[in-house]
Amino acid sequence: MRRIVDSPWLFFILAAALLVAAAVSQFRVYTPEERALGSAEDIARIRARDDVNVIFILVDTLRADRVGAYGYPRPTTPILDSHASKGIRFAKVESQSSWTKASMASLWTGMYPQRTGVMNYSHAIPEEAVLPAELFQQAGFRTAGIWRNGWVANNFGFDQGFDLYIRPTPIRRPGVQRKTPSSHALMGTDADATESAIEFIEAYQRERFFLYIHYMDVHQYLYADTSPDFGSTFSDFYDSAIHWTDRNIGFIMDALEERDLRNRTIVVIASDHGEAFFEHGGEGHARTLYREVQQVPLVVLLPFDLAPGIVVEETVANVDIWPTVLDLVGLPSLEGAEGRSLVPLVERAGGHTVRAAEAEQLAERPVFSQLDRSWGRMGDEPKPVVAMVKGPYRYIEWHFGASPPKLFDHDADPLEKNDLAEEQPDLVAALARDIEFFLSEENTTWGGPKEVEIDEMRMHQLRALGYVIEDRRELRERERERSAEESPDGSTAQ
Ligand SMILES: [Zn+2]
Repeated sequence: MRRIVDSPWLFFILAAALLVAAAVSQFRVYTPEERALGSAEDIARIRARDDVNVIFILVDTLRADRVGAYGYPRPTTPILDSHASKGIRFAKVESQSSWTKASMASLWTGMYPQRTGVMNYSHAIPEEAVLPAELFQQAGFRTAGIWRNGWVANNFGFDQGFDLYIRPTPIRRPGVQRKTPSSHALMGTDADATESAIEFIEAYQRERFFLYIHYMDVHQYLYADTSPDFGSTFSDFYDSAIHWTDRNIGFIMDALEERDLRNRTIVVIASDHGEAFFEHGGEGHARTLYREVQQVPLVVLLPFDLAPGIVVEETVANVDIWPTVLDLVGLPSLEGAEGRSLVPLVERAGGHTVRAAEAEQLAERPVFSQLDRSWGRMGDEPKPVVAMVKGPYRYIEWHFGASPPKLFDHDADPLEKNDLAEEQPDLVAALARDIEFFLSEENTTWGGPKEVEIDEMRMHQLRALGYVIEDRRELRERERERSAEESPDGSTAQ
């Protein structure tokens, strides 16, 4: 042993090892970029840049109050929470419907369902509509949409403006738990969408791009076997699925980081509606317009970190998303949009008030949501439900049957347990007039929705989502259930 320590060879070997280590450290494959820091004053400067990408992550069926950043005590979304703390978080966001197609048609066009007219299973967005992806495409962005919910498929008009609009090939099967209450499983997992998205980022990282990723595993209560086990109810499975989706968002953020793209990418994380767990009698979504199916998260991550992050407390809506993002990047606004850019509210919340009058207007505005309860039934009369959030109130009207309106005060009763409609007839009358006025604003600039035929294959795919479009056998079953379903609260549908 002594001889080895004394040997000059040992020193040669050590010196050589040090040289090799020094050389290797010069060629590290991946050096995390310095995150740029910014403030509310820097937000308006983004639109002058010509290198900013946009990624839009839509987490289907994610209700706001199950997200850590929105106050949920379970650790469902550590990754999103961490990013949101350095970005913009909108605390009160209303989706425009409680089922995917109607909600997404409003989200993309910036128009309420009343104006898009996209309300039932056969409705599509017509060619005449101008969608955000078209504006990105015209501005020279590479555009891609990667989705796993058949209600946003090409045939419903959602592909307009995308160079590439695909359902990813299902490749990942092992290691996932399927807890969906539907007997029909959707093929693949959100890992397929993540993988396709990262391939797109890799291929177009040197160009400007707009990428839309529509995650679906939260809708399906599906998660990896490495996800935390929160318990054994559907509500617990739902939380595990949120945790798994949060990891997928993390993979996208890592992919940006590894390619030095964070400093030139805006990432928007949103949802189309929430999910009920018997808060108002039913489970699932697409049946009511209460808070659990209507309040969704909205987080915007800028090309720089905000320290501290900005929280916008005023009620906003999903129709505002594209007016806001297009304003941020300096692209033309969406023609005919009823949603507004929220940049004045964001700047004000960040202590930089330059568009004060606009911010004030936005803060006082009511927002609306709508649902046709007959959306999945061929040949049925529409059964419209309309809701409005104005100030602290949510007001809901059923325009069929004999259900009385409902009124909740979120300041005193955030969970909507205490219906005030009978106690406050004057307020109900005033809110009813607002809704009447809202409903008098007929149809779109492009003259309403397009009707599409749904072939057997697509019908099968839509059933696989747990959405049932009736055939004769189901019709007979439905007939038996019909009287129960007339109640606005009795619901088990998806
Ligand atoms: Zn959905």
